[in-house]
Amino acid sequence: IDWTVDQGWHDARVQAYGPLTLSPASAVLHYGQEIFEGLKAFRHADGSVWSFRPDANGARLQRSARRLALPELPVDLFVESIRQLVRADAAWVPSGGESSLYLRPFMIANEDFLGVRPAQRVAYYVIASPAGAYFKGGIKPVSIWLSRDYARAGRGGTGAAKCGGNYAASLLPQKQAYDNGCAQVLFLDAESGRHVEELGGMNVFLVGRDGRVATPELSGSILEGITRASVIQLLRDRGHEVVERRIDIAEWIDGVRSGEIAEVFACGTAASISPIGVLKGHDFSVGSADAGAGEVTMAIRKDLTDIQYGRAPDRHGWLTRLTA
Ligand code: PMP
Repeated sequence: IDWTVDQGWHDARVQAYGPLTLSPASAVLHYGQEIFEGLKAFRHADGSVWSFRPDANGARLQRSARRLALPELPVDLFVESIRQLVRADAAWVPSGGESSLYLRPFMIANEDFLGVRPAQRVAYYVIASPAGAYFKGGIKPVSIWLSRDYARAGRGGTGAAKCGGNYAASLLPQKQAYDNGCAQVLFLDAESGRHVEELGGMNVFLVGRDGRVATPELSGSILEGITRASVIQLLRDRGHEVVERRIDIAEWIDGVRSGEIAEVFACGTAASISPIGVLKGHDFSVGSADAGAGEVTMAIRKDLTDIQYGRAPDRHGWLTRLTA
């Protein structure tokens, strides 16, 4: 779908996948005016295809757009864009196991203009790709790397927006994580360097031995994960007390050491829920790579995926049907 200052949103179309033509002076190539979303379409046992909370992704794309001075795509147009793409060839949505169709909506400023200014011409696209199960051969706790050298976002920055630039900033610390045998990097807040923010691509939860659960509050510099919001609801449905608050990294490290914290997990669209076994940094390591996934972690993972795949009632109205 195209957008111009004069015409607003126009020319919605589904077309064959292929290269884009951009002028070398295109704004996105110089100033990073790009925002995106990530969501999935799931095939249910009866063959129908559904997406999980696409309205929430649409609303988040609008918030990202506001932060990057891009135009807001109406949420109904966002949901319709996904429906049209999936309907163009619903055979692409895999069935079986934990496979799904990953959908990647994104928006770029594409006018030819080298001055720094809000977008005047914009293009919005959705591309899709079948995705197999995130964990092949069973769910195994992952190790994560505490970044003390780099922050992902600072106060007043773009941390709460889903824009490409945030991920450019996290590539180097993410590489450090890989180099140290970890799946993802954990970021602390830029101001104090003490408070837990999020992983490179997931939000985090700490489950206490007493069943109380804590997750970092929306600080303004973390991404408001749609899985995070859903997990908070599902934990409450199971009777857990969930608090969104500041979490000092020392509380996490000491809590795992003392056993006060019984389980740690991360959540996001790609992996749904992933147990965290080990947290390590330059001079420490806590947790165990051999400990299995925690009970609460696995229960919530099942609650969430059962809803997504239509194996449990959609009691919160989170699913939107995409096929006719
Ligand atoms: N934080 C970051 C930085 C992410 O990239 C993602 C993935 N979109 C998340 C959290 C999780 O968000 P969601 O549950 O909406 O996928």
